[in-house]
Amino acid sequence: MIVLKFGGTSVGSAARLGEAATIVAAQPQPRLVVVSAAGGVTNLLLEAARAAAHHETARVAELVAAIRDRHAGVGTAVADEDERVLANSQLDELHTALDAALADVAAAGTLSNRDSDRIVATGEKALSVLMAATLRANGAPAVHLFADSVIATDDRFGAARPDRVRTRAQAEAVVRPLLDAGQTVVLTGFIGGAPDAATTTLGRGGSDYSATLIGAAVDAVEVQIWTDVPGVLSADPRQVDDARVVPQISYDEAQELAHFGAKVLHPRTIRPAVARGIPVRILSTFAPDEAGTLVTREAAGDQVKAVTALRGLILLTIDVPELEDLAAAAAQVFRVLHEDGIEVVSVAQASSRRRMTYLIDAVSGGCPRLQERLAAELRELDVDVTCTEDVAVVAAVGQGAAAQPAALAQFLAVLSRSAIPVLAASQQTSNVALVAAVPAALAERAVALLHETFIRPQFASARGRRPRRSDLLAESMRVG
Ligand code: ADP
Ligand code: ASP
Ligand code: MG
Repeated sequence: MIVLKFGGTSVGSAARLGEAATIVAAQPQPRLVVVSAAGGVTNLLLEAARAAAHHETARVAELVAAIRDRHAGVGTAVADEDERVLANSQLDELHTALDAALADVAAAGTLSNRDSDRIVATGEKALSVLMAATLRANGAPAVHLFADSVIATDDRFGAARPDRVRTRAQAEAVVRPLLDAGQTVVLTGFIGGAPDAATTTLGRGGSDYSATLIGAAVDAVEVQIWTDVPGVLSADPRQVDDARVVPQISYDEAQELAHFGAKVLHPRTIRPAVARGIPVRILSTFAPDEAGTLVTREAAGDQVKAVTALRGLILLTIDVPELEDLAAAAAQVFRVLHEDGIEVVSVAQASSRRRMTYLIDAVSGGCPRLQERLAAELRELDVDVTCTEDVAVVAAVGQGAAAQPAALAQFLAVLSRSAIPVLAASQQTSNVALVAAVPAALAERAVALLHETFIRPQFASARGRRPRRSDLLAESMRVG
């Protein structure tokens, strides 16, 4: 049993959907396909939901028309008249339900996370219909399934957490019989079902997570993430133009990369695969014959494999006057972060043992609100709270490499030589990533320099030298 997940670009047009269906048909049965919404449609749906809440009727109509058009365009991939008619009527039902959901939001005059999830799910649902129809039109028995009856979650709408036990039971009951009957099952990514059966979502980019969740639930032998890049690269190719495919990485490395901003994998993707030792492969629908990246338990070598950046963070520094109050202060800070639902990216205790630094997701109200709240909650401990916005973390990921003091020294030296202020640094306890907080505006430069330092030297031994970002190199040498 293989799971194949296709991202937004890979199902974003009739041509791409056709290519994806060809890739599916080339895999042996049994197989389970997970689809995202067509690229851009999730954003259109969210915009329509917000416009409905603000009673912007004309804008809602315009957005809904754009969504219908997009689906109609992608639907031309269905190369069989009967299948196309059937798919169009199923799409009509989804679009009618969308209109009703938007009308409910307009009537309420506010957009709840529950309504938002119900609305955005339309994108994945439409693509599951279209993928199944395309496969059938090409001669492969296929059915679509909406994941609200398969992936069981809690009711944290917008960022639901899966219930693996219920998901496994539902997969056995709903998915397994279809697979046993020789069907290719096409499941919507991104969405799940709350205990009251309402539609939930797993968070933006969550279809990767859906793929490993369902893969673990049906004991898949492999999960393939088909996307628009030829694997996990040594850096985001949009930022570093000579980034290269990393042929093999460990679960830990993939997890750290995703955690620190490599968008190619949703941050939670790896965990379900680790639990059952399922290999995950990242492959390109634009180059389906290339080997891509294989993610398994073992690391290949102890060098830095990739560098990444995560933006949109806040750096909180708490100075505690009395060492004996440290634990109490930490407990209070975590309580506040937990109560406000703020994600913590990393925590460190800095050189002075009374200083704690927290890298957290940006929050509404930003530093002023957070500082006020923490100062009030921690008043008795007389702590000093400093808060910096527009922070990014840059990370150099490589199992083993991060454990070497020389690598940490080199990592910090590169940044300081280039006048990139390191706001906080830590060697992750996992020894998989070297991490520094830097001003967000300098993150791209930091990534480029770290790529030059840690990755470029590996190219020479791999296969000749590659074109270099000479501008950046020259700049770094000038500063150095
Ligand atoms: P999909 O729609 O298929 O899920 P995404 O846009 O979510 O695709 O993820 C793929 C994108 O991730 C790539 O186009 C690339 O710009 C970005 N990316 C960021 N870091 C990396 C990296 N280290 N390796 C590969 N891609 C990366
Ligand atoms: N369509 C969803 C999003 O845009 C989920 C995904 O693509 O993985 O966030
Ligand atoms: Mg994605």
